[in-house]
Amino acid sequence: MIADAIHQIQTELAGRAQLIAVTKTKPIAMLQEAYDAGCRKFGENKVQEMVEKQPQLPADLEWHLIGHLQTNKTKYIAPFVTLIHSVDSLKLLQEINKQAAKYNRVIDCLLQIYIADEETKFGLSADEAEELLNDPALTSLSNVRIVGLMGLATNTEDEAQIRQEFRGLKQLYDKLAATSWPHGNGERIQFSELSMGMSGDYRIAVEEGSTLVRVGSAIFGARNVSTL
Ligand SMILES: *Cc1c(COP(=O)(O)O)cnc(C)c1O
Repeated sequence: MIADAIHQIQTELAGRAQLIAVTKTKPIAMLQEAYDAGCRKFGENKVQEMVEKQPQLPADLEWHLIGHLQTNKTKYIAPFVTLIHSVDSLKLLQEINKQAAKYNRVIDCLLQIYIADEETKFGLSADEAEELLNDPALTSLSNVRIVGLMGLATNTEDEAQIRQEFRGLKQLYDKLAATSWPHGNGERIQFSELSMGMSGDYRIAVEEGSTLVRVGSAIFGARNVSTL
């Protein structure tokens, strides 16, 4: 079943976007099943869960942190995390840089942008993102790379609204990607990824230019508690 769902989604994506299987709350056996079906990118939203699961699975997996990251927990994922989708402050970026340096790594990050019509979601406004990308402090951050943006659309049935939110994020992405930043262009800032779309809205997201979709329940079934 897991394999069927993955193959179906991969067929639909047709190489336009990469699939990140969102494995939060799911047991190792299910992750192994997704791995055996060819999935190599897993997304978790909690540091502790990711750190517990990572050593139990093959080493050629990519681990994507998709949930809010508390600064003081960065050190636990720094040795292995592939992409942090949820950077929402310079302070966090500086901590990721510091921890990445300990392992001689450059950690790729996305800026999470607030696009939903809801009060509970994290993220930067467009202005705040520009401010961060303009910050002279970026000059000294040689162990992080900002490779794009991430956003969560409003949890609604209104497809027109979802499409509009994704379209707005893509427009911001295109604008920021085309800008020449004074403190990191081509090195610390190299836009190539736009992370948008989940089980309920990944088809719309791909049509609007997503390069990374984060899909959980459509692969693994519903989670019994709301962990968003
Ligand atoms: C849980 C989660 C997802 C996946 O949600 P589904 O609706 O199960 O596909 C995607 N992105 C983030 C940030 C999440 O926390």
